[in-house]
Amino acid sequence: MKVYLDNAATTPMAKEVIDAIIPLMQNNFGNPSSTHSFGREVRGIVETARRKIGYFLNVTPGELIFTSGGTEADNMALLCSVEDLGVTHIITSPMEHHAVLHTVEHLQATNQIKLSMVKVKPDGHIDLEDLERLIGDGKNTLVSLMHANNEIGNMLPLEKVGNLCHSKGAYFHSDTVQTIAHYAFDLDALPIDFVTCSAHKFHGPKGIGFLYVSKKLKINAMIHGGSQERGKRGGTENIIGIVGLAKAMTEALLNVEEHQNHVQGLKTYMINELEKNITGIQFNGDAKGDSLYTVLNVCFPEHPKGSMLLLHLDLLGIAVSGGSACSSGSNKGSHVLESINSDPKRPAVRFSFSRLTTKEEIDYALNQLYKILN
Ligand code: PLP
Repeated sequence: MKVYLDNAATTPMAKEVIDAIIPLMQNNFGNPSSTHSFGREVRGIVETARRKIGYFLNVTPGELIFTSGGTEADNMALLCSVEDLGVTHIITSPMEHHAVLHTVEHLQATNQIKLSMVKVKPDGHIDLEDLERLIGDGKNTLVSLMHANNEIGNMLPLEKVGNLCHSKGAYFHSDTVQTIAHYAFDLDALPIDFVTCSAHKFHGPKGIGFLYVSKKLKINAMIHGGSQERGKRGGTENIIGIVGLAKAMTEALLNVEEHQNHVQGLKTYMINELEKNITGIQFNGDAKGDSLYTVLNVCFPEHPKGSMLLLHLDLLGIAVSGGSACSSGSNKGSHVLESINSDPKRPAVRFSFSRLTTKEEIDYALNQLYKILN
């Protein structure tokens, strides 16, 4: 049996998404910038997809800039804040994805910003008092904090943090890569300036995402070239990706509560079963509190097979992750687990689920785990 429990790394494309993009690949090859009928047809397809996404998030289509994914969108929010909004101080946390952390580190190393790291509490939540202190008078300041952490699942109170930032005049960017299309958003009502999206986290294609920029802000291109995306992102549009993203979002959000209940049920079941069957089990982050329903980071007791747990699971057909899959290939420990002082001697495994995950798959994974550990 093969069981895929690494959905925070990426998800399989939904059948509906594949069905939506195949005819496009067969029939609609025009360049949307061309003024002839081939181009106009595809321009219409792109703008229909943009309007659909705008409808679901309650934003105007002009507030969405298609990008090559979450990494580019995060880069653009941060770099354009500095270049176009005069930001000279960025506050972020040590638990952010490398798309944010490495970008702000670059901005600091090139003397473009002062960088502040907000304190993280032992349960993985951001210390909001420390954040308020760091924002100070909010002048030329951007706060960049992710909505849900991709490794431990902790969630940020977006509205509260956005209100805090805006009350002080600071800008607010949130990496929402793990939450867009997993929750219903009303971006128009939220006090937020930038959010980021990546389609492959919700059964869409890889290599496509977007940056939402509030219409109150005026930013320019990060990638220079043609006048695509109203001059804010040069390069011929990824038509297949854009249509796939819109379809994936539609499929995810039309029945979002049903998906949430199903996946949260699996997560709760797994927590309960692990607690019943493995003495000394713990969870990294706030698994039973304000936590993303698709992620469960398990902190196993020390065990002789601990360091080889992922390999043992892989040999049994179970795909999980030992931290962020985005840094797989490097054997450095997880910076997120380090920031919450998780004991490095205790093996940590991230199980991450999707609406396609079944209880049978969870039972298989649990039974194999017990066999390995007993
Ligand atoms: N931000 C978070 C929280 C992520 O989990 C990821 C993906 O792993 C990214 C950003 C990067 O997204 P992409 O793979 O689309 O570049």
